Amino acid sequence: MRTLAEHTTTTAAEALEAAEVAVLPVGSTEQHGPALPLGMDHLAAEAFARTATDREDAVVLPTLPVGVSVHHRQFDGTLYVSDETFERYVTETIESVAEHGLRKAVVVNGHGGNSPALNRAARRLRDERTAFAPPWNWWDGVEDLAADLFDEDGGHADAAETSLLWHLHEDLVDPDALETAEDGASDSWGESVAGAAVAFDTIDFSDSGAVGRPTQADPEKGERLFEAGRDRLDALLDWLVERPLADCWPGEHK
Ligand SMILES: [Zn+2]
Repeated sequence: MRTLAEHTTTTAAEALEAAEVAVLPVGSTEQHGPALPLGMDHLAAEAFARTATDREDAVVLPTLPVGVSVHHRQFDGTLYVSDETFERYVTETIESVAEHGLRKAVVVNGHGGNSPALNRAARRLRDERTAFAPPWNWWDGVEDLAADLFDEDGGHADAAETSLLWHLHEDLVDPDALETAEDGASDSWGESVAGAAVAFDTIDFSDSGAVGRPTQADPEKGERLFEAGRDRLDALLDWLVERPLADCWPGEHK
């Protein structure tokens, strides 16, 4: 089946009529070290979201490719919008699909920096009873498998991300640059002193822009991550399709 953008307005009417859930992929265009393309996060989100085109009860919306990435701005090629702009853009995109009758959605997210805005958007849409639109972060969906496959406390351009993209877009990964990525990587996200987070930009703690152990990446492991994530997303969509809209809204005051 097609994504919404691949329909005409005539065929979209039928697809929207048959659907129960919208699927909105969101990501970023930001540095991912020397081995991965800037589009890593939105390419990942798009690939997971596109698996839902197999379902008649879902409509896959166009990918939002620029996210909340100000903390990567010192690295070439990084694009970003503010947290507030991103929240509004997501909120209004879902409001527009709700106008066509689809009031349940899953936001398939590829970038951790988007999460605060997505959580606020989901809360507001629910409070206003416009739509129920929980975000789904692909890395959370595959957390257990990633912990089995890789020895890293990663988080950015790490072995998990690299493996996934190597499986999805082999031509966009530069395996020869993985050593450089890892040599300049930090072992974990950020820097803290006496419990206070003292790093604000990625460049404060990572020379290469990577965080984790990207040399452990392997496209076959990426395929396993992709299949596991696809199954988790499918399970979430099953749950949301079955859930009555009335049960999606906030509870009454006790
Ligand atoms: Zn990423």
